Amino acid sequence: MEKNNKYDVVIGLEIHLKSKTKSKMFCSCLNNTDEKNPNVNICPVCMGHPGTLPLINEEAINNIIKLGLSLNCDISSYTKFDRKNYFYPDLPKGYQISQFDFPVCKDGYLDIRGEKGVKLIRINRIHQEEDAGRLVHADNDVSMVDFNRAGVSLIELVTEPDFNSAAEVINFVKELQLISRYLNVSDANMEKGEMRIEVNLSLKKKGEKKLGTKAEVKNLNSFKSVERAILFEIERQSNLLDKGEKIIQETRGFHDAKQITLSQRSKEESHEYRYFPEPDLPPLEIAKERISKLKGEIPELPQEKRHRFEAEFGIKDKKILEIFIENKKFGEYFEKVATEILDWMNCEKIGESKYFDLIKLSCNYLTSDLIGLAKGEITDFSNKISPENFAEFTILVFKGDINSKIAKIVLKDMYDWGSDPSHVIESKGLKQIDDEEEIKRIIKEVLDCNDSAVMDYKKGKLASFQFLIGQIMAKSKGKIKPDKAREALSEELENIK
Ligand code: ADP
Ligand code: MG
Ligand code: ZN
Repeated sequence: MEKNNKYDVVIGLEIHLKSKTKSKMFCSCLNNTDEKNPNVNICPVCMGHPGTLPLINEEAINNIIKLGLSLNCDISSYTKFDRKNYFYPDLPKGYQISQFDFPVCKDGYLDIRGEKGVKLIRINRIHQEEDAGRLVHADNDVSMVDFNRAGVSLIELVTEPDFNSAAEVINFVKELQLISRYLNVSDANMEKGEMRIEVNLSLKKKGEKKLGTKAEVKNLNSFKSVERAILFEIERQSNLLDKGEKIIQETRGFHDAKQITLSQRSKEESHEYRYFPEPDLPPLEIAKERISKLKGEIPELPQEKRHRFEAEFGIKDKKILEIFIENKKFGEYFEKVATEILDWMNCEKIGESKYFDLIKLSCNYLTSDLIGLAKGEITDFSNKISPENFAEFTILVFKGDINSKIAKIVLKDMYDWGSDPSHVIESKGLKQIDDEEEIKRIIKEVLDCNDSAVMDYKKGKLASFQFLIGQIMAKSKGKIKPDKAREALSEELENIK
């Protein structure tokens, strides 16, 4: 992708996650991303009225601790809040409550897929802060402000400058998004502004130790724009360096329509914010017991699940595996199907050595046919097709009781009506024809109508055999197993003199 031989690319990320909490960070106003009416979830506290006092939202603190633990961070026993002062029309208090020198989480890491195998990305810190409101720019030169978002809990994560390509960045943010969702700490939808990514990027001469001057890019609201912005910055900065010019340390914005980054302002230094300890909040002490209790609440995370699915179900296809990992409910549905498959195997006396083959078959039907029937909407399908019925369906296909064409008909009926596969097969007359006499009768009928093909075959034209098989399949609507049809046809042809 980045075919740059002269320079090393160095990237660090600052990521904001909207924390999933019932109420805002320091007051009891509702935290509702989907609220359409402006300025309904506000109160004197989040509006910064004099004399009001903030109160720490414990649910938010639990969220950030869980995220920190999942990203291998140290959780501080002592943390405090600080005021970050700046003026902006969407910031009613004139400052944001954030954390400066004592963040809740420090020194973590996350393993990602790098250019050459697994790569460790160090996490510098994860701290707790609050969001600002939102400016809405109307057409007629009027700007309006909606404070519903002001004071909502935000988690900020800062990585070390450990990334060397856009692909590594994308792998990291996608994994972080998954972890946030598994933990139920954030929905992390980029298009809803629940996950906001800032890219810090610099270049340095290949092999050079000292880092170059970085530019920071904001306004990235999709994975695509993160990638585009990185590629654009690499190009822009290397052109400047090639000409012997200096990179200016600045904040740039990504222009979606033009797919370029534009200078917004020179970089502010932290002293410009006049950070000072938040006088209205006491320091927050986090007890060991609280941390270990939260540790116990952490579910199986995506990476553990990948390993388990590979080992337990023999899933080798990475694409299929990721469908189950990315869609947690669907992965759980698959696990229920797998359990039922084992039951069916026992009851049909199918040897255990066939388990991975059966699982593979069910995975294919789950990830292509079933998702197709749902028009791409991937969820828990239990209320459409019970896991037991899906398992039985897999067994029927595996045993060859129905062929792949009939399987599609059966699965559609199961999906539309919640029906049991054996009932569908029975009621629609889709059952394979097993009866020898019945098969003979069908073949005789076909042979009677195809004298010339029979003659040709007798004269040694082998293609006629295939033609006759086709006719038999058509007549039986595919309900005779192909090998049975072949065997019976050979026999019948032998009998014709
Ligand atoms: P600042 O104080 O300028 O905001 P920080 O040290 O807080 O800088 O780092 C902010 C982000 O920029 C972090 O994600 C960090 O990894 C990244 N970063 C720092 N220096 C560089 C650099 N030279 N090139 C690329 N990214 C960098
Ligand atoms: Mg910064
Ligand atoms: Zn409020």
